[in-house]
Amino acid sequence: MIKKAVRKLTAFFYSSNVTDRLILQPFMNPKTQSQFQNLGKSATLAINEHSAALDRDGKDIIRFGFGQSPFPVPEVVVNTLKNFAYRKEYISVEGLPELRAAVANYYTDTLVTDCDASQVFIGPGSKELMFLLQMILDGETIIPTPSWVSYPPQAAMLKRNVIYIQTSADSNWLLSADQLDAKLNHSSSATKLLILNYPGNPSGTTYQKSDLIALAEIARKHEVLILSDEIYGRLNHDGSHQSIAKFYPEGTIISSSLSKWCGAGGWRLGHFLFPKEMTQLMQSMAAAASETFSCVSAPVQYAAVRAYQTDEPINDYLFHVRSVLETVGNYCAKKLNDSGIITMRPEGGFYLFPDFSEYREFLSTKGVSDSESLCRKLLEETGVALLPGSAFFRKPAELTARLAYVTFDGEKALGHSRNNSSDILSIDDLSPVCNRVVEGISRIIDWIHS
Ligand code: PMP
Ligand code: GLU
Repeated sequence: MIKKAVRKLTAFFYSSNVTDRLILQPFMNPKTQSQFQNLGKSATLAINEHSAALDRDGKDIIRFGFGQSPFPVPEVVVNTLKNFAYRKEYISVEGLPELRAAVANYYTDTLVTDCDASQVFIGPGSKELMFLLQMILDGETIIPTPSWVSYPPQAAMLKRNVIYIQTSADSNWLLSADQLDAKLNHSSSATKLLILNYPGNPSGTTYQKSDLIALAEIARKHEVLILSDEIYGRLNHDGSHQSIAKFYPEGTIISSSLSKWCGAGGWRLGHFLFPKEMTQLMQSMAAAASETFSCVSAPVQYAAVRAYQTDEPINDYLFHVRSVLETVGNYCAKKLNDSGIITMRPEGGFYLFPDFSEYREFLSTKGVSDSESLCRKLLEETGVALLPGSAFFRKPAELTARLAYVTFDGEKALGHSRNNSSDILSIDDLSPVCNRVVEGISRIIDWIHS
């Protein structure tokens, strides 16, 4: 029975809706049709909806597909939201002045040496801001892969040319300065936007200071604009996140949001920090925002002012969030690696990007030949939901997949971490909170050895 239900949903997930297309086609604008007709729902959101549907059907599914923080929003931030629920007015398009100042202070205290409130732009999630930026800018978008799922579809909707740079497991799925230089030497586009995401979704790995300095040098040489997606920066497991903006301030826009580090994905609040020099670009963003979303919800902006204080309640929350993520991530990566599934040790965020290619021959006996059939078979035969590497713009024949190790109760895990008296948190300390994660990993390993 489970197999039948899973098959029904995987078929739905992996196919495009032909009937819809036939009915809607006459009404779609022929000028924009080509950008939209082949786009399905974003893979991350689709897997979340489908796994939820399987759960509702009472199926025993382990949901490693969707990347959402398992932790509650810090209590002080929730209380601030409650206190400001009465704020009902529209706020200036660029954002609440107090919030822009709080975000600028946070950056000055932590990642960049000098910035002010006028450089901060608040939006309804960083995703929307990325879309507007790609809409406003001329030229092409350069994306190292594996990359987060939404940058290329956004570019496709805007008819922007995308240049991919494939990284490899050998380089920790990171872009090297030489690779970037070689690609840029062959680019004929006058304006170029490089999207750099670290700690990475889906890789879980991040750049060291020396890597960032080398990349900054190449970007400066080729006058590339960098969109530095640091949404998992505060979830760097040892708290050592650094921004490339420090080494290339004139050409870097930092992007982040409350969605990951603060557990508030559904609150929809993100921001950009623009270089001082880019006032004109910021004005264009404000014009586009004013004609689309107007401003972000007022109570959420007031609550975010609290979130961006770097004081004890926030630091304590982040300390325990990181420590739980590090423990769970290292456990999963080690188990997978020990069983021959190549997996980089995660350095931040909550993803792993395992590579099953050592088992290619065995998997071919199950009819698995690419990342999509890998994930389909795994879901069908074990009930474990991963997202295929192809969703992250890897070559379809590669046997990679993304695993989001967030299927645990974050509130309880924080409690265990706070009550832990030793210096190091172990997976046993988190038991039984993380039993679904442990179970999911062992289902994958048993399957690959079956
Ligand atoms: N960048 C990355 C790498 C992501 O994983 C996400 C997903 N939440 C986003 C950007 C967009 O996040 P949001 O719109 O919630 O700020
Ligand atoms: N970023 C999350 C993920 O990669 C989901 C949210 C989203 O894609 O907007 O799973």
